[in-house]
Amino acid sequence: MSDHPQQSPAGPAATPRPVRVLSGIQPTGRFHWGNYFGAIRQYIELQTAGDAFYFIADLHALTTVREPERLRSLVHAAAVDLVALGLDPARATLFVQSDVPEVTELTWLLMTVCPMGLLERCHAYKDKKTRGLPADAGLFTYPVLMSADILAYDATVVPVGEDQVQHIEVCRDLAGTFNHLYGEVFTLPKPRLVESGARVPGTAGQKMSKSYDNTLDVFEDPAVQKKKIMRITTDSRPMEDPKNPDDDHLFALYALVAPEADRLVMADLYRRGGFGYGEVKKALVAAAADFFADSRRRRAELEADPARVEAILADGAARARRQAAAVLARARAACGLTRGGGTPAISRGKA
Ligand code: ATP
Ligand code: MG
Repeated sequence: MSDHPQQSPAGPAATPRPVRVLSGIQPTGRFHWGNYFGAIRQYIELQTAGDAFYFIADLHALTTVREPERLRSLVHAAAVDLVALGLDPARATLFVQSDVPEVTELTWLLMTVCPMGLLERCHAYKDKKTRGLPADAGLFTYPVLMSADILAYDATVVPVGEDQVQHIEVCRDLAGTFNHLYGEVFTLPKPRLVESGARVPGTAGQKMSKSYDNTLDVFEDPAVQKKKIMRITTDSRPMEDPKNPDDDHLFALYALVAPEADRLVMADLYRRGGFGYGEVKKALVAAAADFFADSRRRRAELEADPARVEAILADGAARARRQAAAVLARARAACGLTRGGGTPAISRGKA
C-alpha cells in the first residue's frame, strides 16, 4: 500500500476521476427560503459542474420522522420540489436513498473500521447528549451512513453547509482507514462549502429555521405567505429616518427574490428614508411571486403527474444502484467477503 501516491484517487486504475458531485437532501419538511437560497439552489447549480447524484435521504429521516405515511409523502414532495426548482433528471441522477440497499451494507463495512470516539465527537450526537436528550444509535452512527452515501458513488465533491464539514472529515477518515487496511477501494471526497451568502433571516429576524417557526416556504399558499410577509417584524423608527438596508432583515429577504435593478432602487429608498415598511412588504410579496412563478408552474404539472415523478426516481435508482453495486463489490472483495471467483478481486494498487 505504501506504493500508493498520497493523493492518488482510489480505484483500480488510479486514473484521474471526473468530477462527481453528490448531495443528500433531507425530506423532513417542506423547503423554506433558507433551505433554498442557503443550499438547494447551489446544489442544483452544480448539476452542470460534472456528473451529479442527488438523493432524498429517507434513511436519515427515519431518525426523526416516525409516521410512515408522512415519510412517503415527504419523499415524494421533496422529489417534486427539487425537479420543480430546476434539478434536471436528464442531466443529474435523482433517487431515493433507500432504493439503493448497497449503501446500508457498505455502512456496516465502514462501521467495522469506525472508532467510537470519532462518532462521540460528532456534533449532531454531542449536541443532543449535552441537552440531556435521548439519542438512538441511528443518530449516533448517522455520520457512518453519510460516509457510505458518499463513498458508494465515488463522489469527489460534496457540497455542504458548514455544519456538515465535520461529517465529510469522518467520511475521509473511514475511507482512509479502510483503504489503508484493505487496499485502495474508496475515493476520498472533498467538501465544497456552498457560499450561502448570508444566513437567510426568518420572519422575526433570527436565522430562518423550521425549529423557530419563522419560515417562508418556497411553495406555500400565496395567501398564507402574504400574511406571513405582512407580519414580518420591523423596527419602529419614524418613517422619515434614513435606514441602512444592509442591516434590515426585511430588505435581506427582498434582496433574495427581487431583480438586481429593483434591489438597487429599494436600497436607495432605504438610505433616503421617508417610506413605510408596508411598501417594502408589498414589494416583497410581488417579487417572491415572480421569482418562484416558473417553479410553481412546473410543480403544478408534476403534482398532476405522480407517475412521472416515480419514473424519474426509478430511473435514478437504477443508475445509482449500478454505481453503488460496483463500489460495494470492490469493498467486499477487498475485505474478504467473497469466496473464489464470485466478485472480481480488486487490483492492489500497482500505481
Ligand atoms: P431544523 O430547524 O430542523 O434545523 P432547518 O430549517 O434549520 O431545520 P435544515 O434541515 O437544518 O433546516 O437545513 C437544510 C439545509 O438548509 C442546510 O444545508 C442548511 O445549511 C440550509 N439552511 C437552513 N436554514 C438556513 C438559513 N436560514 N440560511 C441559510 N441556509 C440555511
Ligand atoms: Mg438547521
